[in-house]
Amino acid sequence: MIGITNLSKYFGPFQALKNVSLTVSEGERVVICGPSGSGKSTLIRCINRLEKHEEGRIVVDGTELTETRESLDKIRANVGMVFQQFNLFPHLTVLDNLTLGPKRVFGLSDQEARDRALGYLERVRIADQADKFPRQLSGGQQQRVAIARSLCMEPRILLFDEPTSALDPEMINEVLDVMTELAGSGMTMICVTHEMGFARRVADKMVFMDQGEIVEVADPETFFTAPKSTRCQDFLQKIL
Ligand code: ADP
Ligand code: MG
Repeated sequence: MIGITNLSKYFGPFQALKNVSLTVSEGERVVICGPSGSGKSTLIRCINRLEKHEEGRIVVDGTELTETRESLDKIRANVGMVFQQFNLFPHLTVLDNLTLGPKRVFGLSDQEARDRALGYLERVRIADQADKFPRQLSGGQQQRVAIARSLCMEPRILLFDEPTSALDPEMINEVLDVMTELAGSGMTMICVTHEMGFARRVADKMVFMDQGEIVEVADPETFFTAPKSTRCQDFLQKIL
């Protein structure tokens, strides 16, 4: 579903990604972890072109990510993203946050977009908040709305960039529960997170990054019980 080969990314003279390669199969759940500044966000932002890579190839569902409008449109239609800071439109209700994309991009009617939005709000168990504004919701509720908004575009792949890092501790689980449910539904997911309990439960593949490199890729059992590199061992020791 996703093939990343020898990817490098520079910010000026600074190399944020160094020769990164990773494959993700359909339905696979990949968890990426690693110290702050290791390039995790940059890597997943490259996948839907929020950042532009200089070297290497990214292929999503058979389409190579290039400069062309056609390539970008095709990839963005397949790939949804959920951010740490939710990024909801503050001046729109929850429902309007969800219906905007499907109406603009797919030309859905008001009624069709509304039905679709309410379906996904139901799925993240927040349909009763549809007419509120984002500021009237808790952080955990806002993040579930953001997930529902991504789902409204019916992507084949969902990218999560530390979706629970901005939340108060008591709200983390309600978001992780929704993500766990999505993982169980067969969605292809790449999650940057330090929630290692979640990772153990849902990941098919663990990826550890440090200083712009993928240092280790392993199944969760091996990753948590017998990490190979000392960099990964040190990291796990600090966070577990
Ligand atoms: P992580 O998500 O693992 O914390 P990032 O991918 O955000 O790491 O950042 C990787 C490195 O790239 C960091 O050193 C960061 O300072 C740098 N970086 C990220 N975005 C930019 C940018 N827009 N301009 C310059 N440097 C950046
Ligand atoms: Mg980051």
